[in-house]
Amino acid sequence: MVKCTGKGVLKGIAIGKIYVYRKKEFALVRTQVDDIEAELKRFDLAVDEAKNQLETLYQEALETVGEKEAKIFEVHGMMLEDEGYLEDIKNMIRENCNAEYAVKEVGSNYSQMFAAMDNEYMRARSVDILDISDKVINILAGVGDDSIKSDEPVILLADDLTPSETISMDKDKVLAFVTIHGSANSHTAILARSLNLPSLVNTDVALLEEYQGKTAVVDGFNEEFIINPPDDVLQELTEKRDKWIEETESLKKLIGEDNVTTDGRRINVYCNIGGVDDVERVLESDGGGIGLFRSEFLYLGRDTCPSEEEQFESYKAVLEKMNGKKVIIRTLDIGADKKADYLGLEPEENPAMGYRAIRICLDQPDIFRTQLRAIYRASAYGTASIMFPMIISVDEIRKIKVIVEEVKQELRDAEIPMGEVELGIMIETPAAAVISDELAKEVEFFSIGTNDLTQYTLAIDRQNQRLENICDTHHPAILRLIQMTIENGHKENTWVGICGELASDTRLTKTFVDMGIDELSVSPTYVLELRKKIREI
Ligand code: PEP
Ligand code: MG
Repeated sequence: MVKCTGKGVLKGIAIGKIYVYRKKEFALVRTQVDDIEAELKRFDLAVDEAKNQLETLYQEALETVGEKEAKIFEVHGMMLEDEGYLEDIKNMIRENCNAEYAVKEVGSNYSQMFAAMDNEYMRARSVDILDISDKVINILAGVGDDSIKSDEPVILLADDLTPSETISMDKDKVLAFVTIHGSANSHTAILARSLNLPSLVNTDVALLEEYQGKTAVVDGFNEEFIINPPDDVLQELTEKRDKWIEETESLKKLIGEDNVTTDGRRINVYCNIGGVDDVERVLESDGGGIGLFRSEFLYLGRDTCPSEEEQFESYKAVLEKMNGKKVIIRTLDIGADKKADYLGLEPEENPAMGYRAIRICLDQPDIFRTQLRAIYRASAYGTASIMFPMIISVDEIRKIKVIVEEVKQELRDAEIPMGEVELGIMIETPAAAVISDELAKEVEFFSIGTNDLTQYTLAIDRQNQRLENICDTHHPAILRLIQMTIENGHKENTWVGICGELASDTRLTKTFVDMGIDELSVSPTYVLELRKKIREI
């Protein structure tokens, strides 16, 4: 038995087989090849294999997501038949270059060439060239693809996971995540929580091949990862898991009940989601609405920005499924740990304090307008609200409102129906909390993002696992900023909620209720637990 400890992201227990997940990255260097013919043959075989893989992906996508989304794999397959691209690679191999390096070089040259073109469609192909080149390189280098190859759901053991990797994974195949790196407030941890996966980050485990397929237990209560437990330990943990499942089941008797304190105060308990699929869990757990739809997840794990039509379909689907309940859509909060290569964001010294979220939207209004058009169009199908992330000034809100008005006018001119849409902002920078008296005059609601508010107030990077032991999420500075925001909001009839992870910390529920909080938005997993807590106050 091997016992490791980590940082738990969800209290719960998962028992299953380990799947060691390795990243595709490896060092790519130029080496001298002597047998040119053999190298050319190796390259041809790799291209054939890539085409086969793309054909399989096309068929899978056709069945699961439809023809439109599947098309990209067909396009990639066609690109792998481009004579110019293939000949340039072969010519480099003929100069005694190893095939991997030749593909990398030629792929990168072609990609740059496409990126510099005037035509938008051709520019978008720049990322596709890199993608197909990577596919061929991985086959040449014997690196597997990153899909999970297992018939049963597994405990995924990885070095670290990015939000894009997490979002692209087949969730039905994952029982829990265990990562060596990562912090409990990272978006990967947040995703694990919203998927109800009892996971561990920052775990002192090694990524050993011998762990592949071994039975293991993730104990989110004790924050332990136990590999190869002997029968008696396995028995004990199985009982503990069953008890946890039983307790979770017993909370279900609160479905349909109100979130009301013993002295009659109602608190809205809403849910945080990352996409359409999460709505099922919101409905199952009886969430009163959606307090945070992290729309940027629609932009991750893909090669281009989602179109207005694609976004419209997603927002509409969420609004329809919520059947009139409030859905707060947060506009694109990309940047920092949520990266999308196709946006061409440059590496930064301090990405969390960098070019991100509303700053990108105001700087590249086309991206912003597309999203706003999609949300307003979808607003006719339910009760939509919009909130803007990373606000630091009144000036930003005024600029946003000008764009919002223009978008609405365009839609009115085109006679496209729209619903009433509440506008709000996230209070997640100390600047916003401090000037919340002025900001409250501008919007209808505030949603406090305690994840970022904590990192900026305490100057502790939420991604830095080494600082987690000093990251006091109950720090009086944070609680005072929350109190100040609630008071300032209420003076202007602006309702105030919390959508950061602190909203589900039941040790603080009474404090928030005493402060006058109107809404708490949490992962669906926590709705009933929070309801129980509120009803006891
Ligand atoms: C927050 O910062 O608290 C928040 C809810 O937004 P995100 O975690 O997506 O940054
Ligand atoms: Mg945030």
